[in-house]
Amino acid sequence: MRCFFHADKPAIGNCKSCQRGLCQECAVEYPQGLACSGRCEADVEALIDLIRRNVEAAGVGTQLLLGYRRALFASAAFILLISAVFIVAAFRGDTFHGFLFAFGSMCALFGLYHSYRAFKLRAPGQ
Ligand SMILES: [Zn+2]
Ligand SMILES: [Zn+2]
Repeated sequence: MRCFFHADKPAIGNCKSCQRGLCQECAVEYPQGLACSGRCEADVEALIDLIRRNVEAAGVGTQLLLGYRRALFASAAFILLISAVFIVAAFRGDTFHGFLFAFGSMCALFGLYHSYRAFKLRAPGQ
């Protein structure tokens, strides 16, 4: 590959914005790629900035989702604990307390549903 601007010089790579081949003399180097010196620098800087912000935004989204997942697990654990208390209470004493058992069972179902939702929750790309 030859430099787009100097047909006699070998290109060291392509501009990240316009994709033209660039020689050492025409290229401005960035950690993420090359830009045409004096032509595409602003474009390539904007492009790199855009990618960086996208990556950061994706990270924030994942953090929020993981926080929500933790909260779901915590509430599921709490609900299951309460349901266990009611179910145990239903069997205490001489008589079986149907109401306590029914309430405890309903809590258990709700807690299991919460756990299921938390397990199903996945960050994008995971
Ligand atoms: Zn360019
Ligand atoms: Zn050149």
